[in-house]
Amino acid sequence: MADKYYCKKCGDNYSSLSSLTANSCRNGGKHELFEGSEQSKYYCKKCGDSYSSLSSLCANSCRNGGKHEPYEGSEKSKYTCKKCGDSYSSLSSLCANSCRNGGKHEPAR
Ligand SMILES: [Zn+2]
Ligand SMILES: [Zn+2]
Ligand SMILES: [Zn+2]
Repeated sequence: MADKYYCKKCGDNYSSLSSLTANSCRNGGKHELFEGSEQSKYYCKKCGDSYSSLSSLCANSCRNGGKHEPYEGSEKSKYTCKKCGDSYSSLSSLCANSCRNGGKHEPAR
């Protein structure tokens, strides 16, 4: 079990899941649990930018529109697109390329 529960929409953290889900999110609606593990860097799954904290990731705009959305998988040596299966050595290169199935690649966890 994690000691802290993070909202994937704004990066706020709470010591219990029930207090996270009981509070409203500044980005609208309720907080939503970030299901990834705590890590040294948090990546946006839409553009591959990385931040040292989830709250700074959530506070910034994504070049692909809207806000960054945290990638919930763990750091790995290869990132695979869940739509076509192509793999890249970094999340940012995966995000920079178009998917043969339309749109951009989307990283699998
Ligand atoms: Zn939130
Ligand atoms: Zn982004
Ligand atoms: Zn793809």
